[in-house]
Amino acid sequence: MRVLVVEDDKDLKRQLVAALSDSGYAVDSAGDGEEGYFLGDTEPYDIVILDLGLPKMDGISILELWRRSDRKMPVIILTARDRWSDKVAGMDAGADDYLAKPFHMEELLARVRAQVRRASGHAKSEIECGPLMLDTKTARVTCAGQEIKLTSHEYRLLAYLMHHNGRVVSRTELVEHLYEQDFDRDSNTIEVFIGRLRKKIPVDLIQTVRGLGYRLSDEPEQG
Ligand code: CA
Repeated sequence: MRVLVVEDDKDLKRQLVAALSDSGYAVDSAGDGEEGYFLGDTEPYDIVILDLGLPKMDGISILELWRRSDRKMPVIILTARDRWSDKVAGMDAGADDYLAKPFHMEELLARVRAQVRRASGHAKSEIECGPLMLDTKTARVTCAGQEIKLTSHEYRLLAYLMHHNGRVVSRTELVEHLYEQDFDRDSNTIEVFIGRLRKKIPVDLIQTVRGLGYRLSDEPEQG
């Protein structure tokens, strides 16, 4: 899952990037409105944290432009505590949720999880596929109740497949949603990680759909 943080307060931005990275997300960040707008307009994010008061371009304008050009990713806006009108304007501009500053990082992370879950069609915080269970709260994966030890990249890959289970996910989509913007993206590495995951979970859960990509499913392979 890939996150964009648009926040001009350097300390807060650093804390957000650290907390989200620690929670298993690939994180890009921007310190002003123009850069933030550009990234959100061109890169595929699973969620965006958007401050409203930003240099060069304000958060409401950014959000309106994204929505006008049909960018549908969930957006959580950060507002000042006493500015209720900002919350209303932000929600009307297309925000999915808001958080007033100062906030507890745990609350932000819970709201991020909920939005990411909802956007991929899951209501519960545990996502299941056959014997596999991803607890999005703790970022743990179990297979028939036994915890599976995963490296951070293996976790990112499996968590993305779990959120989109039953659907064919292309290698390009995986590369775009698992790595930060600056990461040296070699799509061959996806195959390497798929190979490693298949050694840790029941091998037929990740199906290769020739020419298209991968599908995580406990249903028998089609075709
Ligand atoms: Ca600000």
